[in-house]
Amino acid sequence: MDDRKTVWRNPADIIRSLRPEDPVMVFAPTVLQDAARRFLEGFPGLVTYAVKSNPGEAVIQNLVAAGISGFDVASPFEIDLIGRLAPGAARHYHNPVRSQAEIELAVAAGITSWSVDSRTELDKLFAKVPTDGVEISPRFKLPVAGAAYDFGAKFGASPELAAELLRAVADRGHVASLTFHPGTQCVDPSAWETYIRTAAEIAQMAGVRPKRLNVGGGFPSWRVHGIEPDLDAIFARIGETTAEAFGTDAPALVCEPGRGLCADAFSLVTRIKAIRDGGSVFLNDGVYGGLTELPLIGNLDRLQILAPDGTPRGEPAVPRPVFGPTCDSVDRLPGEIALPEDMAEGDYLVWHGAGAYSVVTNTRFNGFGDMQHLTAMSLS
Ligand SMILES: *Cc1c(COP(=O)(O)O)cnc(C)c1O
Repeated sequence: MDDRKTVWRNPADIIRSLRPEDPVMVFAPTVLQDAARRFLEGFPGLVTYAVKSNPGEAVIQNLVAAGISGFDVASPFEIDLIGRLAPGAARHYHNPVRSQAEIELAVAAGITSWSVDSRTELDKLFAKVPTDGVEISPRFKLPVAGAAYDFGAKFGASPELAAELLRAVADRGHVASLTFHPGTQCVDPSAWETYIRTAAEIAQMAGVRPKRLNVGGGFPSWRVHGIEPDLDAIFARIGETTAEAFGTDAPALVCEPGRGLCADAFSLVTRIKAIRDGGSVFLNDGVYGGLTELPLIGNLDRLQILAPDGTPRGEPAVPRPVFGPTCDSVDRLPGEIALPEDMAEGDYLVWHGAGAYSVVTNTRFNGFGDMQHLTAMSLS
């Protein structure tokens, strides 16, 4: 048993060797670099990483090593993080609402790409941001289709307002571009299609040819066994639709995946604290920890159940309610989860595909959430 090892074989190896009491987030850098290369080779434009989905320093470093040269940043912290870890990389400040102080800080940090979705925020940028070579991208929204939840509920101008903003940006002498975010975990390529066609209509309404079109994040990770995402089909649809909608004068494409890059490079190891009367399962992690997203977008079902010696339990057969460790009744995973009959207290549940919106949203509520971070060669 060697717990000073820095790179483990896989989650089962960690369980056998360490029998961890606290949750462990296992990172496989090779899986992350493979995902980055899939985007870089397949997406017909510039690939940037949405830092908010997982801002771990090892994540940023491995993305840079794989060739990612642009980042979507949303706060002074993220601007500084990328400035430090990826100097020279493009930073797109695509949070469309910023305080005066945040705008000043970003200008001083050298940000030259901004998004905007309202007149008031555009006026704030006009007052503080130099025009020379600086890109401003109106962000528009459509009624949601195909996403796991609605991003348009918070951000995005109507197409009519986006056209007005695009015109104003061009008149002011900025580089005028357009951006949208179709919503997270979109498995259907048609989610991008309507947005891209609308972008062409906005350009026409404004009488402005956008320099670039940022098609957002929303690229799916592998959350459900039976539905392995088909990124190539999405990339192809984005390329074809852009060529059709804009013709020969098409804007250069940019994407800003978060989940689609980082989620599948991590597995969360949780332990069963108790199986109570009636069969409900209590884990050492839950919705205030690494499983925050599950009530919002549904259970991850790429689960592996291992005994403490690392051997797999039987087929998942018994649906059980699953709770997290805190004393808050909200701390429960949606519905019931099918788990093996022979599962026992002290066993481990490994959640594959758990790298997005999990490490960064982990809290210490109720004294839980002391998550360990380990690295593995592989996750299977
Ligand atoms: C969160 C976010 C993303 C990443 O979304 P994913 O669904 O994780 O790909 C991209 N762009 C913007 C502006 C975002 O806010």
